[in-house]
Amino acid sequence: MKNSVSVLGTRGSVPVSGPAFSHYGGATTCFLVHLAGQYLLLDAGTGILHLPEEVLSVRTLPLILTHTHLDHLIGLPMCPYLFHPGVRLLLYSQPFCELSGEALFDQVFSPPFWPVTLDSFPAKVSFLPLTEKFQVGNILVETLPGIHPDGVALLRLTGDGKRVVLATDCTVSSEIAPLLKEFAQNCDLLLCDGQYSPEEWDFHKTFGHSTWISAAKLGLDCHAKQVRVIHHSPFHSDAVLDAALPSLQSIHPKCSFAYEMEEILL
Ligand SMILES: [Zn+2]
Ligand SMILES: [Zn+2]
Repeated sequence: MKNSVSVLGTRGSVPVSGPAFSHYGGATTCFLVHLAGQYLLLDAGTGILHLPEEVLSVRTLPLILTHTHLDHLIGLPMCPYLFHPGVRLLLYSQPFCELSGEALFDQVFSPPFWPVTLDSFPAKVSFLPLTEKFQVGNILVETLPGIHPDGVALLRLTGDGKRVVLATDCTVSSEIAPLLKEFAQNCDLLLCDGQYSPEEWDFHKTFGHSTWISAAKLGLDCHAKQVRVIHHSPFHSDAVLDAALPSLQSIHPKCSFAYEMEEILL
């Protein structure tokens, strides 16, 4: 089977809806990777509701959370996979302030914030630590700490001779750019945070994100074969992103804004 990344959701911060967002989509961040013959989910925003039918019966499904901000987590209690008996979600996440991933989820997905806990679904959930380097079946997963409030893990996945890098929720500052350039060197696909326009940058520079121009430049610097700018601002309509597309492609000809339900072949 082909190696690919499907964009199930790519909006940042909060979901949006309406005709102004019909192309790039309103669901928050979630990517389905198909690499080396297996599926792997990255983040659990509301895009997780787009999980295709053929994934629902896979016996074990790894899900790696880059961090636990709500836009990356909020789809989890409605994840269609959890409603299937006899399957197991392997949930990889980092601890925060000495709270394990499991303890964090127990806090968020329990009354009064949510009526049911994750252990009440037909599917089983196993909580696993997100470490610097580990193997998920045929896929090697490596992480790099990004620059973001409360922290974030940038991810590099390697399998079947292909490499995908997810750099979401990260400020591509001069401090991290050399590390990131090396981390993403020659990757087949770079998915990079580009929430803001250059004009919006001054006000938002401490928010833990990047501009779409920084994302395209990183793609050029690291010789990524393809680049997708992700984590679109909820204030950016299709018209705003379409108008900015030429500025991306003048930097890297294979750079564009990711859109919901896009399948990117590696
Ligand atoms: Zn986010
Ligand atoms: Zn975040």
